[in-house]
Amino acid sequence: MPWRPDLLALVELAAPSSCAGCGAAGTRWCPDCAVVLSASAPRPWRPTPCPRGFPPTWTGLAYAGQVRAAVVAWKEQDRVELNPVLATVLRGVLAEALAGSPPHTAAVLQHTPVALVPAPSAPSSIRTRGRRPVPELAAAAGRADLLVDALRLTRRVQDQAGLSAQQRAANLQRAVTVRPRVRAALREVPCVVVDDVVTTGATLAECTRALLAAGAGPVVAVTVAATARRPAQARPQRAD
Ligand SMILES: [Zn+2]
Repeated sequence: MPWRPDLLALVELAAPSSCAGCGAAGTRWCPDCAVVLSASAPRPWRPTPCPRGFPPTWTGLAYAGQVRAAVVAWKEQDRVELNPVLATVLRGVLAEALAGSPPHTAAVLQHTPVALVPAPSAPSSIRTRGRRPVPELAAAAGRADLLVDALRLTRRVQDQAGLSAQQRAANLQRAVTVRPRVRAALREVPCVVVDDVVTTGATLAECTRALLAAGAGPVVAVTVAATARRPAQARPQRAD
């Protein structure tokens, strides 16, 4: 049966297909962007300046170009089909983190619990999006059985975008807590905080503080991507 271009146009209207990374038409995720993500090289990462209490952290990609576009599309534009794409990156990062942290390695080898703990989302963003992308991503990374959705924001926080490093830290100070019903399950359990992107490190530091205050074991963190470090002298007025 011959193609009906008019009907194909209808399909496009119903579900426009453009690559979430580069905008190329006719595909949701193009081969060129797939190559960029497959070049993920999991590595330890620290922000500069590094906030107090920042955990040992591993990441896979620089948050720029197609990677940034893909993460924004996944999170803000409901491109849930990118869950497996980003989860593949996260799985590699998680493997490096578990191997790179002796207490986590020991727990894995001894078959004692390790907890994957998603960074919390603001209640307003959960309402707006109708979903919680980071727990989805952590589950898609293959170990939903390790997932402990433990962290909540205890008060309203400003959107972190546009805040300086110091403002982000102040915005999040003591803003995260561990849900009472999972405290016992996390006691002395090595934890891995999961987030999509690390920028100033304020979120990961606050999540770590909350977990340790609740009696969790050693904490490390994994993210899909990390913001590229910019030369401080080039942007003296903004240290984000
Ligand atoms: Zn693309």
